[in-house]
Amino acid sequence: MTRLLIIGPPGSGKGTQAQRLSAHLEIVPVSTGDIFRMNVLEQTVLGTEAQRHMDNGDLVPDHLTNDMVRQRLAMPDVEDGFLLDGYPRTLAQVEALDGMLASSGLRLDAVLELSVSDEQVVQRLLARADDRSDDNEEVIRHRLDLYHEQTNAVVSEYAERGLLTTVDGLGPVNDITDRTMTALAMTSIASTR
Ligand code: AMP
Repeated sequence: MTRLLIIGPPGSGKGTQAQRLSAHLEIVPVSTGDIFRMNVLEQTVLGTEAQRHMDNGDLVPDHLTNDMVRQRLAMPDVEDGFLLDGYPRTLAQVEALDGMLASSGLRLDAVLELSVSDEQVVQRLLARADDRSDDNEEVIRHRLDLYHEQTNAVVSEYAERGLLTTVDGLGPVNDITDRTMTALAMTSIASTR
């Protein structure tokens, strides 16, 4: 289990779980949200372009996101594995990722979905609203709408491929990490049968 993806609505706790899982599994976390935020801070050309989309709660256009991920996945530190967090979010990104991996003869081993209700998500995001410029209620609701419009199809696609494992994202952080580790262990047992 070395090439993984964690997916879930904004505020599902996927960033936190991605950090913990990648540490447990000793694989590199790759968060597109973090890479975009770093580019915004460093005021790169990509950061300037990405920021206006991020501040409105919109997705950064696919071509920019795909190019950024292509460069990141070409770096040597991810050769032995990675945990993608927040990518792919659209079907076009799924296709781009398939191409990137296939060109090295690779594919994803498993996709973990953190499932949390919309209301729970809104409450959580409002609670951290001071930390991020894209966390006011209107923007949060828009990001959730986009999740349903664009990213649900990504979840369905991986379900059809038999890669999806869904974990209940509600509860104490440690419990959710335990649940995801257990779910992954079951997946790897199933895939070696
Ligand atoms: P996140 O930290 O994953 O919630 O991402 C924060 C913001 O970065 C999102 O609301 C988008 O504006 C942008 N972003 C992150 N990942 C992607 C992606 N895969 N495609 C497009 N935009 C993204």
